[in-house]
This record gives sequence, structure tokens and C-alpha cells, in this order.
Amino acid sequence: MASEQLDQIYPYSEMGPGEDANGRIERQVFGEEKIVEDFTFYWDNYDFLFISQGLGSDAEPIMLGSEPRICRFCSRPNATFSKTAHVVPRLLGNKRLVCLFECDECNTRFSFIEDDLSKRFRGILSVCEVGGYNGIPRLVMGAQRSRVGNVDGHVHIHQYLGEPFIEINDAAQQIAINYRSDSYRPLAVYKCLAKIAYSLLPDNELENFQELRHWLSAPDVEENMVYAKGSYVCSRSILAARSAFKEPRVLLLRRKTEAESPYCIFLLCFANTSMQISVPCPRMDKRLIGKQVSVRFFPHIYMLKPWLIQGAIATWGEELGSSDRKSELQKIKLSYETKCTLDS
Ligand SMILES: [Zn+2]
Repeated sequence: MASEQLDQIYPYSEMGPGEDANGRIERQVFGEEKIVEDFTFYWDNYDFLFISQGLGSDAEPIMLGSEPRICRFCSRPNATFSKTAHVVPRLLGNKRLVCLFECDECNTRFSFIEDDLSKRFRGILSVCEVGGYNGIPRLVMGAQRSRVGNVDGHVHIHQYLGEPFIEINDAAQQIAINYRSDSYRPLAVYKCLAKIAYSLLPDNELENFQELRHWLSAPDVEENMVYAKGSYVCSRSILAARSAFKEPRVLLLRRKTEAESPYCIFLLCFANTSMQISVPCPRMDKRLIGKQVSVRFFPHIYMLKPWLIQGAIATWGEELGSSDRKSELQKIKLSYETKCTLDS
């Protein structure tokens, strides 16, 4: 048997051109001017509350919170704090950013929504070599366990006869991996992002986010929802670069002017993707109710400096308001520079 080895593999996209299934509701193409305009808007109208640095390194922990330990989410007396609480899920590669204010019970509850996040992004976590305590996840398909995984920093794809899941396009020098995700709840993914944002807030802002705390404290994703279902839109980007974000990055912004834009914006970047949300805050966003507010992308480093990566950046809005489990067809495109045959 001979197998093919492909060098220089870059994840290109989670989906093919023209596909708009899976709740993607909009695509935007940004020009340089628009990116500068958006960055200037945030610079002029927002305070930068939290910017992460080096979360994937083995350096000493960045600890949020203080003694005595009180759970920020449930405030329950007699709470225990025996577990290490990662502010950004460990599975996204965060080794350092931890907190003192998440009790064991809340930590366990949050692990269920982190599981939804993990299932949603298993494909790119696998290909981009991002992992947590259990290592880099693998995609496994079919009865013979065809799979995509990482070995020594290389993507290994094993496709058995009768279990086709890859397409090779020699002319375009691309491989597409087609797989069906494990079922996950979109609203749980959003809640996971909101939980990270709430953890990053300074103490003096917590009072403004009581409705969010109420939602985060509920065991079910729909219980105590802050807004109606149509309000959970996430601004996404995908970069045609393997491991553009070798470690996760987070950014938390707070509006400081009367601009008609959400009070609090949270951005999470990991692997080769980014997710941006407006952190639910009805108390401070009352005056936006009933208005058509277009939330701008906060330009991340590769939007500001696109020459740092080889390929394009795709952006779109993704509706995450549903709590119904869904399993979706996903596609990851990989491009390569050379192809050769190995003797077995
Ligand atoms: Zn708690």
C-alpha cells in the first residue's frame, strides 16, 4: 500500500465558497479603509478592560480575584474551591489565565457548556493542534475509525476504503475534509463566551451585569436567558492559516462614550478563528432597544496586518440563539505545496 504525504498544510476554511448553511447569516468583505475605521471607532469610544498575553505558555499563572474566596457566579456560602478554574477553557490552549472566584459547583456546571464549544470546534482544534488536558482532539469517523489527528506536529489523515471523507483537488492543491460534528447546542457556545467575558470584568462592573450573572448561574442554557433568542449573534472570522493563534487571546472592551454601540464587547481568538459577541447587559444597553444597531468587528491582529498570513480572512455573523442540539456538516479545506508518495 502506498500513502501520500502532503507538506505545508494550511486550514483554509470551515466551509466551501457559497455555503451558507449552519446559521451563517451574513458575509462581509472588509477593505483596508473599513478596518482602520472600525479600529478607530473602538479606540475612540471604548476602554480596553482586559487584553491577554501569552496564555498558552508554561509561565506562572495569571490569577484573577482575591482572598477571601467568594464565587462570583453563585455567591453561595460554604462553596468549595478545590479545582483550578480556567477563565478561558483549557481545551482552547489556555494554561495560565485562572481565577479564584469560580467555585467547584459552578466549575462543573460550566464544563457542560465547554463541552458544546469543544464539539463545535473539534475539527479546527484537531487540525490546528490546539488541545487541553487530554491532548489535541482527533476527528474519528466510520466503523473502521477513519481519522484526522496530529502526530509530532503533522496532520495525519487516515481514510479507509468505504469511508470516504476527503476530497483531493490536485489542480487547486487542496484537500477538503468533510465531517459531521458531534451534536452541540449553539446557545451553550454563546453562554460559554459570555461566561469568559463575565469572568474578565473588574469588580466594580459586576453590578451592571446582574442579568448575565443570573443566566450564568442557571443550570440549563435557556433558563434565565437575558434576551430573546434572536439576539445571540456572534461575529466570526476564519483565517487561512494553520494555528494563526497558537495560543488563545481575549479582549474585553467597555463603551466610554454615548456611541450607539453595545456597552461591552468580548473577542476570543484561538486556532485559526475568532468569535466576537456583545456581552448581554440590558442595564447599560437600554437606550439601544428598538434601534437597528450594527456591531462592528473589532479588527484582530491579522485583519490589521493581513500580510502576516498567507491566505484570506472570511468573516460572517453566526446566529447562536438555539438551544436545540444540532449536528452539522463541516468542511475544512487544507492547501499544500508539494505531494509525494511514500513506500509502505
Ligand atoms: Zn459558584
